[in-house]
Amino acid sequence: MIVYSVPMRTRFRGITVREGVLVEGPAGWGEWSPFLEYDAAVAEPWLRCAEEAAAGDWPAPVRDSVPVNVTVPAVGPEQAHEIVRRGGCRTAKVKVAEPGQTRADEQARLEAVRDALGPDGRVRIDVNGLWDVDTAVAAIGVLDRAAGGLEYVEQPVATVEDLAVVRRRVDVPVAADESIRRAEDPYRVRDLAAADVAVLKVQPLGGVRACLRIAEEIGLPVVVSSALETSVGIAAGIALAAALPELPYACGLATVQLLTGDVVTESLLPVDGALPVRVPSVDPALLATHAAAPDRVAHWEARLADVRALREDRV
Ligand SMILES: [Mg+2]
Repeated sequence: MIVYSVPMRTRFRGITVREGVLVEGPAGWGEWSPFLEYDAAVAEPWLRCAEEAAAGDWPAPVRDSVPVNVTVPAVGPEQAHEIVRRGGCRTAKVKVAEPGQTRADEQARLEAVRDALGPDGRVRIDVNGLWDVDTAVAAIGVLDRAAGGLEYVEQPVATVEDLAVVRRRVDVPVAADESIRRAEDPYRVRDLAAADVAVLKVQPLGGVRACLRIAEEIGLPVVVSSALETSVGIAAGIALAAALPELPYACGLATVQLLTGDVVTESLLPVDGALPVRVPSVDPALLATHAAAPDRVAHWEARLADVRALREDRV
């Protein structure tokens, strides 16, 4: 196993350096990169995803490219326009509910994004669970008009219960993201009719086949999203998106560019708004470049030992 450490281009999710483990198996490489605050129980399914990749146990793809969205942070309208124009994607995900900003700031950002995309582009907003129900209901109407129609609103409120309430009070489809973090969560979203779209991430949910099963069982359209992995981990997300029988929405897998470096010869970056369905080749020189310091290697070895000990206990 190899521990990598790559600085982020900009702070994301409070993280400035992304770390994780790359494991090599009979069929290739897998990535295990649970966020640092997660305990062994939460990190265990993430390891299953890496093991599945290293074993080459992915379902056959039904498409050869995966449409992806460009992400627009809480920036001003000129910058938002530029990000969308440069991104080359047909779908934009726009961050809103940034502390210190007003609804007018968000309207201006959405108008700029619509202008950059043109009438055929799709615009979604991501609230990261930061609104309460009444704020969400009022804001979604205003921002839907500013955007010239929203594709969906991602996690407008924090809890699944509130998501269900908001969904009944607005016309814009609702997507569940933060509400889906463990394998049992998507079923709760389904049972409460809390969302129209499920955002699935392969690492936290235990791998590509596990996610494919969840997608079948919940009967909701799925958007595959990343957990800020290197191209090794992104390949697993692409494998899921490529194997889903239906893929009506662009995926959130264009995130390799948020890292200052990568570990493969040809990074999984979008071309014309889509990612190719292929497994990238790990580059030994880049692995050496991005190898973590000894104390960080020791930290990850200890985490891995904890997960393995947890598995022993369960047997
Ligand atoms: Mg989100």
